[in-house]
Amino acid sequence: MRTVYREDHELFRHQVRRFIDREIVPFHSQWEHDGIVPKEVWLKAGAEGMLCPTVPEEYGGPGGDVGHSAIIIEELARANATAVGFTTHSEIAAPYILAYGTEEQKKKWLPAMVTGASICVIAMTEPGTGSDLRAMRMSAVREGDDYLINGQKTFITNGGNADMIVAACKVEPMPTGKEITLICIEAERAGFSKGRRLEKIGLKGQDTSELFFDNVRVPVGNRLGEEHKGFGYLSHQLAKERLIIAIRAASSIETLLQETVDYVRDRQVFGKSLLEYQNTRFKLAEVKAKSTMLRVFVDHCLALLMEGKLSSDVAAMAKLMGSELHNSLLDELLQLHGGYGFMSEYKISRAWVDARVARIYAGTSEIMKEIIARTL
Ligand SMILES: Cc1cc2nc3c(=O)[nH]c(=O)nc-3n(C[C@H](O)[C@H](O)[C@H](O)COP(=O)(O)OP(=O)(O)OC[C@H]3O[C@@H](n4cnc5c(N)ncnc54)[C@H](O)[C@@H]3O)c2cc1C
Repeated sequence: MRTVYREDHELFRHQVRRFIDREIVPFHSQWEHDGIVPKEVWLKAGAEGMLCPTVPEEYGGPGGDVGHSAIIIEELARANATAVGFTTHSEIAAPYILAYGTEEQKKKWLPAMVTGASICVIAMTEPGTGSDLRAMRMSAVREGDDYLINGQKTFITNGGNADMIVAACKVEPMPTGKEITLICIEAERAGFSKGRRLEKIGLKGQDTSELFFDNVRVPVGNRLGEEHKGFGYLSHQLAKERLIIAIRAASSIETLLQETVDYVRDRQVFGKSLLEYQNTRFKLAEVKAKSTMLRVFVDHCLALLMEGKLSSDVAAMAKLMGSELHNSLLDELLQLHGGYGFMSEYKISRAWVDARVARIYAGTSEIMKEIIARTL
């Protein structure tokens, strides 16, 4: 029994599930082949209230809460709909504008993000640095009422489709040389260009791109919050981003456990059902026990997030354990499928490959251990 959700959340789940089954699942393989999701899908999702669920009505949003966000994340994970980068847009990029934007910025930018007309990305990582955010180099030089932006970002989720970039930059002069500033950059600005869509081993349908900034002139009014305060903003928002990975892991493991139970029940080996072998039952029992432990902890963290009390070290624990279990348990489930587990038409195979990145992005497992270790 899960107690973290209200009844209206569960009603919303039915709506989300219907949308995913109708508008995403039948087309997912094609998007994996194309390496990108068409923008029309974003507009359909926006019309259904599936984008930016926590944006208040005054900015055109559905005015939901973190519970509605989590329902969408869980349902996308259930379907292994990894091509659609809705979560990065709704839960990671847009919240920077909601949290640190001025009234004018929110009114100007958020409504189009809610409808899906404007796809927003968060650009921190650069070719030279990912984990060590403070070492980033993208510069923003003040010229009168503008910033002149130069640099490069890489591995940016939804980069190919991006209409708006929340970019982490460095504004000279900096007190210590390491301060970060967040600046919103519209994709139509002169000097901005998108690089190639990067070829990946998993998340094949999700567009992950390089972005280039060559003397891009942006008004100072596009800055989010204060100059040099960006690292604090990022650290605060990253806790939620890390919990998202854990929520996804818990739902993915549960779904694939059930699929594996169905598979081994039907599969005959040496004259009896694969489920009758003690090894199979013990492996599945272990997966069930571990995924139940994960679910309880993730729901605990979700409740903390709803109360605004999720700390970065607790979120790091959820991300570390969620992503590591996601990988190790899916590997056990794949093994129980034999050769079919290696075939792309089986959901377990794609989920297994897609899960690998969970230990890397949004902060690697090693960085999560660093964050946790600081509390010892
Ligand atoms: C599919 C995908 C989508 C992504 N989407 C985005 C996005 O939308 N926006 C964005 O900004 N970024 C995005 N990223 C980037 C991602 O967050 C980084 O790849 C990640 O933070 C790791 O940085 P790095 O790749 O530079 O690895 P590095 O920092 O070079 O790390 C290499 C290795 O060194 C280890 N390491 C680093 N520091 C330490 C330390 N102090 N102690 C011990 N070990 C350490 C790491 O754990 C890792 O094992 C995405 C990445 C991928 C793969």
